[in-house]
Amino acid sequence: MTPSRAHRWLPLVPGLLAALFTLAFSGYLLLARGEAAEQRAATMEQDLLWQKQAIEQQMNVDRDAVLGLAATLAGADFGSPVFQARALSLLQTSPEIVGLSVQDGRGQVEWHSSQASQWALPYRGDPGWGELWVSHGQPRVQYAVATPDRRRMVVIVLALDRLLQQQVPWWIAQRYQMTLYGPGYVPLASKYQRQLDLAGEIGHINLTEPPLGLSLKAEVYQTRARPVTLALPWVLFGLALAMLASTWALGRVMRVREVAEIRLRAETALRKAMEDSLVTGLRAMDKHGRILYVNRAFCEMVGYRAEELIGHHPPMPYWPAEELERCEAVFDAILAGRLDPNGFAVRFMRRNGERFDVRVYASRLIDGEGEHIGWMGSMYDITEIRREREALQASHERFVTVMNGLDAAVAVSDAQTGELLMSNQLFDRAFGLPDWRGRCCILPFLPRRTEPPVDAEWYDGFRQNWYQVKSRQSVWVDGSAVWLEIATDITALKTAAERERRQNETLQQTARLISMGEMASSLAHELNQPLGAIASYASGCRNILAAPAPNLTQLDQAIDKMAEQAKRAGHIIRGIREFVQRRAPHRKRCDIGTLLDTVLGLLGHEIVRRGVDVSIAQAEALPPLYADAVMLEQVLFNLIKNALEAMDNAAPDRRQLAISLTRHNGALKVVIADRGTGIAPEQLEQLFKPFFTTKDAGMGMGLNICRSIIEHHHGRLWAEANPGGGCRFVFTVPFSEETDAHEP
Ligand code: ADP
Repeated sequence: MTPSRAHRWLPLVPGLLAALFTLAFSGYLLLARGEAAEQRAATMEQDLLWQKQAIEQQMNVDRDAVLGLAATLAGADFGSPVFQARALSLLQTSPEIVGLSVQDGRGQVEWHSSQASQWALPYRGDPGWGELWVSHGQPRVQYAVATPDRRRMVVIVLALDRLLQQQVPWWIAQRYQMTLYGPGYVPLASKYQRQLDLAGEIGHINLTEPPLGLSLKAEVYQTRARPVTLALPWVLFGLALAMLASTWALGRVMRVREVAEIRLRAETALRKAMEDSLVTGLRAMDKHGRILYVNRAFCEMVGYRAEELIGHHPPMPYWPAEELERCEAVFDAILAGRLDPNGFAVRFMRRNGERFDVRVYASRLIDGEGEHIGWMGSMYDITEIRREREALQASHERFVTVMNGLDAAVAVSDAQTGELLMSNQLFDRAFGLPDWRGRCCILPFLPRRTEPPVDAEWYDGFRQNWYQVKSRQSVWVDGSAVWLEIATDITALKTAAERERRQNETLQQTARLISMGEMASSLAHELNQPLGAIASYASGCRNILAAPAPNLTQLDQAIDKMAEQAKRAGHIIRGIREFVQRRAPHRKRCDIGTLLDTVLGLLGHEIVRRGVDVSIAQAEALPPLYADAVMLEQVLFNLIKNALEAMDNAAPDRRQLAISLTRHNGALKVVIADRGTGIAPEQLEQLFKPFFTTKDAGMGMGLNICRSIIEHHHGRLWAEANPGGGCRFVFTVPFSEETDAHEP
């Protein structure tokens, strides 16, 4: 049986036991009563027997006495003293003898006792017992004894009622009503004291002496039942009922208690579960600091079992030796009620000796009656928090160090309010903010845009500094929108770039002047050609006009040719002016093919004179460049002119100049390859140094300027050996420079 079912039946057990007890006790009472009745019947039987014997014995005594009396009459008269004395004695000792007479054979009374004169009745019959009769309700019987001479008879009259009264002793009379019955169950005499119990026991016994069919009947008196006896069954019943009722009530109470216990168990289990699942260590102490309770988390923290800690007094086993003083101080403060609302930070020790930091919060322990019985302490293991805080601090310090080590000013400001949330030292110094905390700072110089992030140069007119400012919107640690601004001081860079630009310009100017000198002779040739052509066309015109019928058509063609040659000469001269003019780079959309044509046009005379075979290879259509056309023309001019000069000593059939135009990684790649003297590998980089030249009249500036120009266009220029002899110069210029390349 399951415990719950056992519990359900348990309250019925006392009721069942009470019922069983009542039944058993009633049975016992009935049995006891039966036994008592049996006992009484047996006693009655014994008493009746005894009574019978007592009566019969008295009869025998009376008979013997009469026999003795009759014997005295042998030869004597009833006047004899012996007879008289005996007769008197007989009457005195046996009061039941109410008549004594001496009669003759015919029943004549000869003598009778004076005390019993009324009963001197004649007796007829043989000696022995006479007839029984009842006179005035008094039963009588005669007994006759013949004298020795048989002539007379001594007759006595027995009063049976008296006999009964005499012979039934008090202790029998107290118990029973004794009744003497004659033949035919006729009541003769009775001795009693009280009312009869009609339902009581009755006993009978027949008397053998006198042989007259007498019998004795004993009847128990009506016994008044004792109230206790009467009440007993009811008391028992009542008790049983009370037991049942109390059992039922007990059952109810038990059920209520059971429900309460289940609730309590559930509540206790819940509390236990809650306590056990707490990660906070709990410790309860009494007012003297003795540990009353510790929870699982606390035990796990310190590594001791609850039984080892409960009842413990300070110093506690989890107090490290080096922290004893601090632990004791905190302990004393708690006992003295000096509770710090922020708790106490102390260091405890695990069983294995490991130290850990906790924060202890103490509060008063109040019992159910509201009495202050001790102190409650809750501990939080703050080792990890402290470690994290230290790590965070270290990380913050590292961050600050890095931020302050940057050579850029960094600031974070709230996107809404503009409040400065963070800045590094350089920012504070650069913008005069020694302490940025709480200050409101909106960098005034930035147009703030969400998309795309700002990346611009800004000139601080007040301090005369240039900054490269990058600004973008970002999300701050608290999730709010902020502006992150990084300002790099580029004043030095700017100054250097400006200086370099000016130097370059000066150099280019110089170079152009040099080139101009160099080109003077070729220009003279170049101009000579159109001028010579114009002169010859002019003389041709004159010849046509001198003819009788001038051919006007030929004249017109000649004049057209002259104009064309004049235009060409003008173009050459304008080119020289532009080339020589000192000017800032001027970018515009231009086509490499056109540039190349111009340069080849300028160098046409040189090419023809040297008998060089020029080939141009262009695999695909190329997009336009965004560049300074004159500068690129100068680069092409220098490189082609150097190539032509390098092939001066080459065999005529090897005088080949191969120019290729290709697209490579989003840039234009131009290769100018010759079959000239070539360049020793160790000299490949030296060529670009200023004043490096192998020519008698050379300046050694051409390649240097070319590289500057190409780099200015964000490209590269280099020289390499041309497989099969000679060398080749390669330069690149990016195509898509239009958007972000602009000059201040
Ligand atoms: P310059 O032409 O005045 O000497 P450059 O800077 O143009 O100055 O050239 C520097 C030197 O580079 C030249 O003196 C020459 O020795 C060498 N060089 C230039 N181009 C070539 C080339 N195509 N082949 C061989 N050597 C060259």
